Amino acid sequence: MERKFMLSDKEIPEAWYNIIPDLPKPLEPPLHPVEKRPVKPDDLAAIFPMALIQQEVSSERYIEIPAEVREIYKLYRPTPLFRAISLEKHLQTPARIYYKYEGWSPPGSHKPNTAIAQAYYNKKEGIKRLTTETGAGQWGSALAFACQLMKLECKVYMVKASYNQKPYRRIMMEAWGAKVVASPSEDTQAGRSILSSDPNSPGSLGIAISEAVEDAATRDDTNYSLGSVLNHVLLHQTVIGLECKKQMELAGDYPDIVIGCIGGGSNLAGLSFPFLHDKLTKKANPKVVAVEPMACPTLTKGVYTYDFGDTAKLTPLLKMYTLGHDFIPAPIHAGGLRYHGDAPLVCLLYDEGLIEAVAYHQNPVFEAALIFARTEGIIPAPESAHAIRAAIDEAIKARESGEQKVILFNLSGHGYFDLSAYESYLAGKLEDYEYPKEKVEESLSHLPMI
Ligand SMILES: *Cc1c(COP(=O)(O)O)cnc(C)c1O
Repeated sequence: MERKFMLSDKEIPEAWYNIIPDLPKPLEPPLHPVEKRPVKPDDLAAIFPMALIQQEVSSERYIEIPAEVREIYKLYRPTPLFRAISLEKHLQTPARIYYKYEGWSPPGSHKPNTAIAQAYYNKKEGIKRLTTETGAGQWGSALAFACQLMKLECKVYMVKASYNQKPYRRIMMEAWGAKVVASPSEDTQAGRSILSSDPNSPGSLGIAISEAVEDAATRDDTNYSLGSVLNHVLLHQTVIGLECKKQMELAGDYPDIVIGCIGGGSNLAGLSFPFLHDKLTKKANPKVVAVEPMACPTLTKGVYTYDFGDTAKLTPLLKMYTLGHDFIPAPIHAGGLRYHGDAPLVCLLYDEGLIEAVAYHQNPVFEAALIFARTEGIIPAPESAHAIRAAIDEAIKARESGEQKVILFNLSGHGYFDLSAYESYLAGKLEDYEYPKEKVEESLSHLPMI
């Protein structure tokens, strides 16, 4: 039996799929953070290139992938699609389980799919330098990698707590030539003002975003880059699902269930949107499932409304499911899933009933991660392990009902920089944080008035 389905370099898709023209209803526009009117392209031009601002609102169904981007994609794309034969055997399920392995990329996740595209469009518009924030370092390392290959400078504001506790991702970014500083830093007004009131601040993603945006807005040669949530990021990630459709054809199967973990929504959207196209055009009816942590259950417990993208209230207001912009989730190991909101595109589809969602505690997630590592070999990122948990549960349901379901999930990254999380799990020291109902109610009481 075939265990993996590979495509050649020539089969890298030539266009990304834009779901906007196929939506069941129009997206509501982002609003200016102070004036609360729809954002104009000029509001964004200080920190984003025009090509990406246009992609954000484009109504073209397919958008060409530039040749230079496809050339760099070839370093790791097409990524393999695996049939999880050993996992199926272990679970004694009649289900057929497939996973698309995005940890195949040099930085080890799906994130370079958009980092490369963003670096390309910025360079084309004469930008010399990109800034960004990073928590655990997955996005920072993807952007460092992309900037090095596109010959741009890269400056990463890394949340100080991670900078000190997780040196390997920082070293990876530096190996790819990026400049990394612990945030809050002395390099920006935002950083200095926090340090003057709290010299020992451990930092946060919200603070790091403020620093990276300020740096980009105050220098002509510099733009800012975001790794998830925005429409253009989800667009670039559809290269995953477009390849996967061809690979599922090679396998002679079509998924009944498509699963992805969700932090901001980019890897879930990347895999599922090309399949949702079939659902929206009534050619097929796959079930799409977003998997989130119980410690940050944005879709399953949040509210659908306008909220800020960051703690400091600097970003435009986005219509999304949110737990409140000042909600700070418990320190679970899946750092990439600790975001208070989700991509507006995913939220609209969820609200319309086209995407479902489930939430899990981290112990069952790590249990699934080890079952996967001990059958399929790859040690998954804690984020991706959420998708594995849901895939395993669907496979067990199929065993109980005797149905031959076809289950597809996105293995968004490997976990080789997350071994200390595995160490805690193996030592029985991992905490399952209850859903923080009161904290959420508190942060939801601070939602902006529209
Ligand atoms: C960043 C990250 C995520 C979460 O981000 P999305 O935008 O929801 O995909 C998930 N998995 C991995 C491996 C990541 O690095």
